[in-house]
Amino acid sequence: MKQREIAALFTQMANLLDYRGENPFRIRAYRRAAQNLESFSGDLERLAAEGRLRELSGIGADLAEKIREYLATGTIGAVESLKRKVPPGVLALLEVPGLGPKTARLLTTRLRVSTVGELEAAARARRLRGLPGFGAKKEENLLKGIGVLARGRERMHLGIALPLANELLALLRRAPGVSRVSTAGSLRRMRETIGDLDLLASSTQPLRAMEALRRSPLCARVLVSGTTKASILTPDGLQVDLRVVPPESFGAALQYFTGSKEHNVRLRELAGRQGLKVNEYGVFRLKTGKRLAGREETDVYKALGLAWIPPELREDCGELDAAKAGRLPALVESGDIRGDFHIHTTWSDGSDPLSRVAKAGASRGYQYLAICDHSPSLKVAHGLSVARLRRQMREIRALNARGGPLRLLMGAEVDILNDGSMDYPDQVLAGLDFVVGSIHSGFGQGEAALTRRLIAAMRNPHVTLIAHPTGRLMGQREPYPVDLEAVFKAAQATGTALEINAYPKRLDLNDAAARRARDAGVMLALSTDTHSVDQLEQMTFGLAVARRAWLEPRHLLNCLTLTQLLAWVGRKRNK
Ligand SMILES: [Zn+2]
Ligand SMILES: [Zn+2]
Repeated sequence: MKQREIAALFTQMANLLDYRGENPFRIRAYRRAAQNLESFSGDLERLAAEGRLRELSGIGADLAEKIREYLATGTIGAVESLKRKVPPGVLALLEVPGLGPKTARLLTTRLRVSTVGELEAAARARRLRGLPGFGAKKEENLLKGIGVLARGRERMHLGIALPLANELLALLRRAPGVSRVSTAGSLRRMRETIGDLDLLASSTQPLRAMEALRRSPLCARVLVSGTTKASILTPDGLQVDLRVVPPESFGAALQYFTGSKEHNVRLRELAGRQGLKVNEYGVFRLKTGKRLAGREETDVYKALGLAWIPPELREDCGELDAAKAGRLPALVESGDIRGDFHIHTTWSDGSDPLSRVAKAGASRGYQYLAICDHSPSLKVAHGLSVARLRRQMREIRALNARGGPLRLLMGAEVDILNDGSMDYPDQVLAGLDFVVGSIHSGFGQGEAALTRRLIAAMRNPHVTLIAHPTGRLMGQREPYPVDLEAVFKAAQATGTALEINAYPKRLDLNDAAARRARDAGVMLALSTDTHSVDQLEQMTFGLAVARRAWLEPRHLLNCLTLTQLLAWVGRKRNK
């Protein structure tokens, strides 16, 4: 939890420096450190006590000192003193998507706006459009940004919800009398954002389980505390609902509270047609009231003549018919993943050197990792010139020559420029093992132009994969407009894979789009877009999207062996 608090302060620091127009590299260092801390799952306080903070990716002497200061005092002096140097409300305004530091300066100095509410009122009263550089369009965009921010606050993304849930489950497991625990609700279905966090436990002493939750440091306020249900608020304001049931109805309760609502409605209809009733206590015969199942979730489905349906599919999207017909997909599992694409290192804006990334990949049991640092146009991310790229390729060859189970692929995340051309010449791309094409600029070009750009990139024989195809950042940036069906068609025709970016704020393509891509015959790829080795674990979130998209191993590039993968890349190039 401490790392999240410090990450939030580092983000504030970056925003404040940005507002004051300070060194962009220093700003980026804070942002990067904040991201790394957010994904760090170890014990920060212990690391600090052992004087080992600098082993964290992206943490140098200066930032390590600030972390120690926070752990000791609960504040960071540098952040506090910077806050005093800017007008009130700046930090809140900078959280509005699409509102940069220059605009914030204008709003705070010219209009004396100091809260998001005041900004919204000013925009609705059309008071912004007179300001220098402001038109009606920009005013509308800011209003949209305020909407995105509000929605982002209501729901939490998986990257935050899942670790929190795991922490709470561990705590419940230790409570006396508890025999089984599980997540339920949208988290168990692995939806990309979660409203309330639902937990389920079976216990012979339910009150002790409730007590364990109430006493946890993650409980800031108790909302409800009954005999079978407790609700608390975490310090972040997230609601956690715990239900405790007797062991004999754990399976039925798990099925019931996992949902979705629509899935359960269909399930009850199906039961009714068979003279059965299904609820959170079990499956019963309507006539006699005889109980047929309840202890195990699999038996609940079996009693209704169905195969067990993986939670990710329970959205009333054809899963009940598939289960009845014995045609459920053999969903991809973590053990099927043989490698990761789209990895950044210290050569561009990553925090870890090649050797450390390779070691982390090998320890996950991977066969390959595609190293894809940025191309020269992305200056703020230290994009690689052709000369530096060639030096990096030499270093990769040298590392591969040492042998070992993992092969590093020489790749690049290459900007797709505004006219659809690639940021490296073809002859450079031809020397790479794996080429990722990305749009990082010109989001405002409009749907037709953006679609043309993506298709132009896919027609390049060297481009293997299109990264984050819609560019969204949840709570920060809406997807740019793009004709996905046209993109799918081109991807299929050219033999280009599309990414499911596993970074929890991206998850791009999302589940629905990935399923349509699969139906269009497109090869998909999970990549973590790792900027520090801890983020390799984000594969979990990519897998969640893939499973929700009904993907099997054959739909994913990551499930190919190294030889098959290189052959797949070669097929497009030799077409
Ligand atoms: Zn990118
Ligand atoms: Zn990237």
